[in-house]
Amino acid sequence: MSDGEKKQAKKLFNHVVVVGLGLIGSSLTRAITQRGLAGDVSGYDASLEVRDEARRLDIGAQIVDDLSAEVARADLVILAVPVGAMLGLAKEVCPHLKVGAILTDVGSVKGAIIKAVEPFMPKGAYFVPGHPVAGTEFSGPEAGFGHLFEGRWSILTPVEGTDEAIIDKVVAFWEGLGSHVELMSAEHHDIVLAITSHIPHLIAYNIVGTAADLEDVRQAEVIKYSAGGFRDFTRIAASDPVMWRDVFMNNKEAVLEMLGRFSEDLTQLQRHIRRGDGQALEDLFDRTRKIRRSIVEAGQETEKPDFGR
Ligand code: NAP
Repeated sequence: MSDGEKKQAKKLFNHVVVVGLGLIGSSLTRAITQRGLAGDVSGYDASLEVRDEARRLDIGAQIVDDLSAEVARADLVILAVPVGAMLGLAKEVCPHLKVGAILTDVGSVKGAIIKAVEPFMPKGAYFVPGHPVAGTEFSGPEAGFGHLFEGRWSILTPVEGTDEAIIDKVVAFWEGLGSHVELMSAEHHDIVLAITSHIPHLIAYNIVGTAADLEDVRQAEVIKYSAGGFRDFTRIAASDPVMWRDVFMNNKEAVLEMLGRFSEDLTQLQRHIRRGDGQALEDLFDRTRKIRRSIVEAGQETEKPDFGR
């Protein structure tokens, strides 16, 4: 999308407040401003250091020090803090929401966040939980960029009974940022993301941890020969420790269920190798290669070799 086209995007809100100015929050402020989706955008972070950094970087928002005053005049408030911080933040933010205001979030887990936020929602304001399935392994306001959400999926998990017009407005917002949008239940979201995102991160953390525990000589070789596959796991395993701690603490059930399935399949693979069943291995690898191709065809990855990472 050219800058000219972005500017033509429809203004959907008069005043948007983004709380948490890390990778996702600062990408949001940049994207909302670049695409003209709001009359004005404010940003707040609990950390004074992050607020100062965001002011220095010019992330497309006015950085404020008083959150409650800002929330009181907002049409849309977006919580972009780690999942574990959502409960405390909801207590702080919700009492100030004006009638008609929409509250949303970007947390990677949905069931636990709904449970944490809903009890604090005042009458007349609306909560529409969300999760942009877009990100990188970097954190902080310097890591954000305005095209993060373009061509990526954003999932909304509205609770039953939410006004359709309000959901449509949040859908239009994410589409305005260049995302495709899908609606599903929070429970379904948490299961799907457990296998597509949470377990892959757990596996990466585990394999890199195993390598780190090897004796010195072998560890040096792991680094030297990392292009053999290990390197790709280290990128994922470099993801924000606090964010991922919170994901596993708040999506326990779905992660443990998927981990059980994963362990069974791993045991099966172990058996194929022990028995010398090459055909079974090849059949699986054929199937997995097709999955990779379908991800490329769906535009969620490119075929280009990525030796430069
Ligand atoms: P991040 O880069 O670490 O940024 C989070 C920011 O929120 C930090 O600056 C943090 O400050 C601040 N914060 C923490 N508690 C706060 C509070 N109570 N009030 C205001 N600010 C507070 O994290 P992120 O990657 O943007 O992730 C934010 C959310 O997006 C998480 O819920 C995550 O699950 C979700 N998400 C992440 C990705 C991804 O790939 N990273 C993708 C999709 C969704 P301190 O550092 O001082 O604590």
